[in-house]
Amino acid sequence: MSSINLQLTATGRHFSLSPLPGHLYADCTADEPCGARASHRLLLRRTASVRLLCDTHTVEWARDHGVLSAAPAADSRGAAVEPGVPMHD
Ligand SMILES: [Zn+2]
Repeated sequence: MSSINLQLTATGRHFSLSPLPGHLYADCTADEPCGARASHRLLLRRTASVRLLCDTHTVEWARDHGVLSAAPAADSRGAAVEPGVPMHD
């Protein structure tokens, strides 16, 4: 599962989360080392520390900190229906 291609960007009072440049290869440094390739950089201002997180741990962290719900979700509704165009089933 390394094809998620997550591109999360979020900034809060205590953190800054941004995607790693694609050419930069680093291992995930989450609490539980998973050995996966890091895709995001997380700056924690409180401890002035930087963590590199893989897709899985980025999503996990974002959920834990209420970031993900605020991020724009991928459009799962498909193409928008033009207003005024009658829909026939
Ligand atoms: Zn990880």
